[in-house]
Formats: sequence, C-alpha cells, structure tokens
Amino acid sequence: MSQKTEQTCKQGHHYFKSTDCPTCPICEEERKAQAGVFSILSAPARRAMEANRITSLEELSGYTEKEILQFHGIGKTSIPTLKKLLIDKGLSFKE
Ligand SMILES: [Zn+2]
Repeated sequence: MSQKTEQTCKQGHHYFKSTDCPTCPICEEERKAQAGVFSILSAPARRAMEANRITSLEELSGYTEKEILQFHGIGKTSIPTLKKLLIDKGLSFKE
C-alpha cells in the first residue's frame, strides 16, 4: 500500500496522492472540461471537430453521418462514439 501525502501542484491545488503519482486531479479535471464533450475522441477526430468548428453535440447533430465521415481525421471507429454521445443527449445525426 502506498502512502498518501498532501501535495500542492503548480496551480496551487492541494490534493492527496501517493508520491509516485504526481498528476493533480483538479488540473486533470480542468483539462478535460476544456477539451469539452469531444475529449473522449481520438486526437485526430478531436482536431477534425475543431477544424470544422463543431464545439457542441447540438452543432454535431446538424450534420449527417456521411458529412462527418468526410472530415479529415474522422474514421469509421469514431462514428459509434459520436453516436453514443448524441444519444446520451437525446440527439442524433441529421437524416
Ligand atoms: Zn492542480
């Protein structure tokens, strides 16, 4: 069992973690929040969203699956993930 100690990150967050794991959980959360809803996508897919100025699922639902697949960086494997994100919000791709 590793011992947990209080640590302070560069941003001044206090957190308890074992010394062999220096990642601040608060910074980690903030980083995720900034990446937004598409943070679970692969990096190329996320860049494709950015390049096409899609920043929300509402905007994504304005596109058809075919249109999204034409974005550079979006692979077939990204589609099920995107679909799930949309469904969770009660949305879907444009027909
Ligand atoms: Zn921090």
